[in-house]
Amino acid sequence: MIIEIDEQSGFCNGVVRAIQKAEQELANNKSLYCLGDIVHNSQEVQRLQNIGLQTIDNKQFKELKNVKVLLRAHGEPPETYRIAEQNGIQIIDASCRVVLALQQKIKSAHENFPNAQIVIFGKSGHAEVLGLEGQIDYSAIIVENEDDLEKIDFSRQIFLFSQTTMPLDGFEKIVNIIQLRVEKGVDFRYYDTICRQVSNRISEIKKFAQRFDTVIFVGGNQSSNGKVLYEVCRSVNKNAIFVSAPEDIDLKKVKSSKSIGICGATSTPVWLMENVKKQILTMINF
Ligand code: SF4
Repeated sequence: MIIEIDEQSGFCNGVVRAIQKAEQELANNKSLYCLGDIVHNSQEVQRLQNIGLQTIDNKQFKELKNVKVLLRAHGEPPETYRIAEQNGIQIIDASCRVVLALQQKIKSAHENFPNAQIVIFGKSGHAEVLGLEGQIDYSAIIVENEDDLEKIDFSRQIFLFSQTTMPLDGFEKIVNIIQLRVEKGVDFRYYDTICRQVSNRISEIKKFAQRFDTVIFVGGNQSSNGKVLYEVCRSVNKNAIFVSAPEDIDLKKVKSSKSIGICGATSTPVWLMENVKKQILTMINF
């Protein structure tokens, strides 16, 4: 039997870097705070918690003094840095460089064109979006779907950006609708700021899932990216199975397969996919 783990599955570079920073710090000091979950995967959060990483929320962050706090890849609004300075908190900044560059772009657009409407295609309340909005005092218009476009004044200048993890086809659709609705002569500029580490996953996983008799997709039940990618696998392979942990594997389903592909979401740790592979090997050898 062939069992292969998808090399493209697993954390994006931003998350890998944040976890490395946490591990480096925890190798020297036995405890470290992290503002928000470092990744949307409970097993990985638990693994890091076991070596001393403590996840805190914004309320707890405001109450801390003279400690070290890691900022995860999503990026933060300016007030997080202000609070840290006031409270003597040492920041270990793992904000992704791609997100930081986007924050800067939005800030510059607002400074150079103060009367323009800054529109962000993204999920309202998402940590990355809050960090982006915070750059311009939360004056941006957040558009999650077509209905939200009603918030835009089509007779005034519009600058459109995107949260890095939004789907590319959704962004293109929003651009097309604005182009159709914007009044003649009005300046509409749009910037595709979607990170290809996530958007390319759909076509990559589709190709991967087609190659095997059975596909085991490893993901957290809460991961929205996981649900999307699993559905992509199912659309090309009727034997795609969703598992959250090695214990979820059903021997009957894998035993009859000649080839098994193991893949996962952008929040699935590689070690978890490797554990799934080990579990299959153990099962079939008994
Ligand atoms: S911008 Fe890309 S690499 Fe950075 S955190 Fe977002 S998805 Fe990951």
